[in-house]
Amino acid sequence: MPELPEVETIRGQLAPLVEGRRLQRIEILDARWSRPLAPAELEGALGGRRIERLGRRGKYLVWSFSDDVHLAQHLRMTGAVLCVPAAQEASADPPHTRVRLRLGAARGRAAVGLAIVDPRRFGTGELLLGTEALESFFAARLGLEPFDERFTGEHLRALARGRTAPIKALLLDQRRIAGVGNIYADEALFRAGIHPLRPAGSLSVDQHARLREGVIAALSAGIDARGATIDDFRHVDGVRGSFQDEFRVHRRAGEPCGVCGSTIVKMVVAGRGTYVCETCQPRPRRRRR
Ligand SMILES: [Zn+2]
Repeated sequence: MPELPEVETIRGQLAPLVEGRRLQRIEILDARWSRPLAPAELEGALGGRRIERLGRRGKYLVWSFSDDVHLAQHLRMTGAVLCVPAAQEASADPPHTRVRLRLGAARGRAAVGLAIVDPRRFGTGELLLGTEALESFFAARLGLEPFDERFTGEHLRALARGRTAPIKALLLDQRRIAGVGNIYADEALFRAGIHPLRPAGSLSVDQHARLREGVIAALSAGIDARGATIDDFRHVDGVRGSFQDEFRVHRRAGEPCGVCGSTIVKMVVAGRGTYVCETCQPRPRRRRR
């Protein structure tokens, strides 16, 4: 699933292409994408509007249109946004196209087509009318962004206080921390030297500070590598991200740890396949009864 660095990569590539253009037409080919709105309702609300800004919140792409109209797009498991050259547009959609967008010419740039493709069809687009609706949508769904200056070791510690669930589950909880998924949780915990099964509330002040650094370092490395492609994630031009080549533990079971040489192991934590070096990330001790 695309996580913060993958969505940020798409945003960075798309923003200069779409901002300032008019969305001439949006065609929703799969009614699941716009639920609970019917495709025609969403098409009518967005068609003809100018795209003012393309933003990101957590794993959402946020399209902001004229008159304070917004679209919160989630790529879920396998969604991607692809640029479709005008010559190709009429002939054939890319495989698994769920939504077609047609953007008008602007400042000497030709009109352009985009396709939202999604083999597994879990992606969604949600219409939000007004800044207030936008803010309350995200307030109910997302915690702080890790790049927010308020995201400190102290903040993490406050989130974790009294919690006995594994620290990895906390990292994955979008309502507490926005944008971290399975890849970056594993990589952040490894960088911080913390076992994913550690009860969140049991970490020391120093460990929370290291974990905050680990989260930011892992996400930054992912953004620098323009995301990771392990399933269907692709850039706007169809190119794949390269961060999978830099994973330190994720998907590396059986390989030696780059720090200590121990064998990386796979286990299930918070219902997700999880990769750990149990030398660099010591297993929590069992409590005496
Ligand atoms: Zn190690």
